[in-house]
Amino acid sequence: MIVTRFPPSPTGYLHVGGLRTALYNYLLARQQKGRFILRIEDTDRARYVEGAVENIIETLNWASIDHDEGPDIGGPNGPYTQSERLKIYKEKVQFLVEQGEAYHCFCTAERLTEMRERQQAHKEAPKYDRHCLRLAAEEVAKKLNAGEPSVIRHKVPGGKKVSWKDLVRDEVSFDSDLIDDQVLMKSDGYPTYHLANVIDDHSMEVTHVIRGEEWLSSTPKHILLYEAFGWEIPQFAHLPLLLNKDRSKLSKRQGDVAADDYRKKGYLPEALINFIALLGWHPGGDETQEIFSMEELIEKFSLEKVHKGGAVFDLEKLDWINWQWRRRKFDELPGEYEDKLLNLVENEIPANWRDDAELLKRCLKTVAEKVIKEPSTTVENLSFYFKEKVTIDAQLIANEKMKVDLPLAKNSLEKAFEALSAAPESSFDDEEALKTLLLELVEKLGIKNGQLLWPMRVALTGEQFSPGVFELLWALGKERSLERLKSAAESL
Ligand code: GLU
Repeated sequence: MIVTRFPPSPTGYLHVGGLRTALYNYLLARQQKGRFILRIEDTDRARYVEGAVENIIETLNWASIDHDEGPDIGGPNGPYTQSERLKIYKEKVQFLVEQGEAYHCFCTAERLTEMRERQQAHKEAPKYDRHCLRLAAEEVAKKLNAGEPSVIRHKVPGGKKVSWKDLVRDEVSFDSDLIDDQVLMKSDGYPTYHLANVIDDHSMEVTHVIRGEEWLSSTPKHILLYEAFGWEIPQFAHLPLLLNKDRSKLSKRQGDVAADDYRKKGYLPEALINFIALLGWHPGGDETQEIFSMEELIEKFSLEKVHKGGAVFDLEKLDWINWQWRRRKFDELPGEYEDKLLNLVENEIPANWRDDAELLKRCLKTVAEKVIKEPSTTVENLSFYFKEKVTIDAQLIANEKMKVDLPLAKNSLEKAFEALSAAPESSFDDEEALKTLLLELVEKLGIKNGQLLWPMRVALTGEQFSPGVFELLWALGKERSLERLKSAAESL
């Protein structure tokens, strides 16, 4: 059975790169009817952030990336939080010491610094000089008995080529001579990432380690540890880096990197997952297909199709995908178009806007795209319809480009008022009739369309951006439209 895992360190929010790692692990496990484990790697106590574990779990839940085993739900190979597994690490590292695969090191920080400076001066690669490996067994025992602080280091075998067939990057190989004798156990009794990660992946029966490219250089160290323990080595897959649009490494400076920020901004989980899935992967086949549901992703995902090169985090694409998902979810709502719109914004709008159901329906229709795209902007997009009084900004209504000055605006509004007053109520149910009527008026006045329609738009809304005049008149109805035109004309 395939077993994958996502082992974040609770050092802060869940990064979008972490979300992608979690997603790919999840997709593979679901597709292969395997298991997906969430494990918390909290052995670096200095970097522990209060609330991070909760945030990670909450974000994964929101994204529907659910795990089969984890700190919150338990499982057969728990505990799933590393700080609760210290006994296990101690026991296992002891085994390595007994096997001669690891050794105690008593070097002080000063000695290590001195050593490093010496190596630097000689232009040598910084590497532990194995001073303590040469200590006699009795001496080690004596120091331990005396309670001298020590760490345990991996005795990395020299002269070996450590290679593996990476499921994304193919053949990868490292020279073991370049690998330092890693600290496995710190003097405070906490394991390092390398030790805990390998022990846990083994004891949790992980078959596939799928993680970001930044862990690539850790993998040979892990492979040597698996060998030292005599354990089966899992498969590895290293995912490409996420990049900013300028192809630099994705950074906070160029936008949000916390998955949670996108949730807070109102992106749909379906959209964020869809977008994240395509960061470095596409199933092939129809190259133009960009919209995938979680079910489709589970069906189509494969590590062979993960790209080797970095993946650009393109916010415009995210917006586009989000829009597609909003549309799709809107279309799937039951009922007639207008009722669906009403449903969608039900919780967004003030109660008194519902007093005039006809007005609400009509004005919603005029901004439907915007509202479907971002329901949380409903009030902002509709409020001008519900204003008691529209205030006219003279600088807005006078528009040089449209050749509108204040006297012309006033005249246009007065003429529009006259023409529309004379029109039957029923013309206001018919945008085409309104259009014909107003374009005839333009002709009669001998002016350009904009010289009539722009002042009208501002008069009806008070805003710079709004739906077109015919739609506005249709939505507001005769009485309200005339009122607004009149009051605007009077104010100029
Ligand atoms: N704890 C590591 C992290 O924060 C896990 C890396 C791995 O998957 O091995 O990403």
